[in-house]
Amino acid sequence: MKDGKMEQKLRREAKELLERGRVDCIIGFENGSLKFTTTPLITSDKDNTSRLVVNPFTENNLSVYLPEIKGRVGIVAKGCDSRSIVSLVQDNKVVREDLVIIGIPCSGIIDLAKVEGLVGKDRDEIDDIVRDGDKVVLTVNGDKEEFPIQEALFDNCLACEQPTPQEYDILLGEPTSAAGDKEKTKSQEKIDSLKAVSPDERWAFWQSEFSRCIRCYACRNVCPACFCERCFVEETEPPWVLAIPRWQDNLIFQVTRNFHVAGRCTDCGECERVCPVDIPLRSLSREMYDIVAELFHYRAGMDKEALPLMACYEATDTQDFIR
Ligand code: SF4
Ligand code: SF4
Ligand code: SF4
Repeated sequence: MKDGKMEQKLRREAKELLERGRVDCIIGFENGSLKFTTTPLITSDKDNTSRLVVNPFTENNLSVYLPEIKGRVGIVAKGCDSRSIVSLVQDNKVVREDLVIIGIPCSGIIDLAKVEGLVGKDRDEIDDIVRDGDKVVLTVNGDKEEFPIQEALFDNCLACEQPTPQEYDILLGEPTSAAGDKEKTKSQEKIDSLKAVSPDERWAFWQSEFSRCIRCYACRNVCPACFCERCFVEETEPPWVLAIPRWQDNLIFQVTRNFHVAGRCTDCGECERVCPVDIPLRSLSREMYDIVAELFHYRAGMDKEALPLMACYEATDTQDFIR
């Protein structure tokens, strides 16, 4: 189903949910103030449902809001978002019965930085970006140029295992397919190039990257799997890291964060997307995701009946992973 039809259906369903009192509010996307952007819309007014949109720029993982919102919620969810919701349900942060999940079969989200790179133009100079099947059509000064869609999607979307929500109450369209091998290989390019260098070079790389971190905590705040009531970086007795963003403390923050979200991270890509200084955070989070999959055969948010990874232990578990 085309985005326009899904959008119409979403607006109808959301309005009806509010009118019938099935939910107290709806969380979805509306158009942003900048070109080719969307922004989260949280509303309890049925008239605002006409502002809801479905398009290839709906970046945010909206599940991050759920633990903070009281009452029954209708939430728009792409595949990765629905996995985060399931993970939050498993961790008792959210009650499934309080939710109406409106699932969007996702075809991938367009990375504006990649698009700008393709045509060598700033987003303000691009007239239009249209997804057309396996291509993206860019219009600049009235001229159209086509590129394979793989060149324009976020790296995590190229590796997506579950683009259609597996957990939903309303599905807005036909299921979409998981990523193929070619796309997965492309999504790994940055990570593989890091794995190919020596440990010393890798250490130097991360030292340099984390020297740029300004410790704004955007990566933490946007992550649905990062929900500790008090983050260890804010502890003062004892202080685990210094408040000033030295590279050593920045690295400790990020490594610890990755351990904390292991088994909860759904590779939604939000942490890397929001980093204002473009630190390639997915090279850490996706690697952790793959290690969890390899060692524990566990993929976060795929099975709501499963125990959270870090909450189950069996006497027969091997300890080969402790080195
Ligand atoms: S990771 Fe998958 S579900 Fe999430 S935005 Fe990308 S393609 Fe869509
Ligand atoms: S978003 Fe980037 S700059 Fe901000 S704390 Fe995270 S790694 Fe550092
Ligand atoms: S660590 Fe990053 S990719 Fe993983 S769930 Fe959190 S925001 Fe998404």
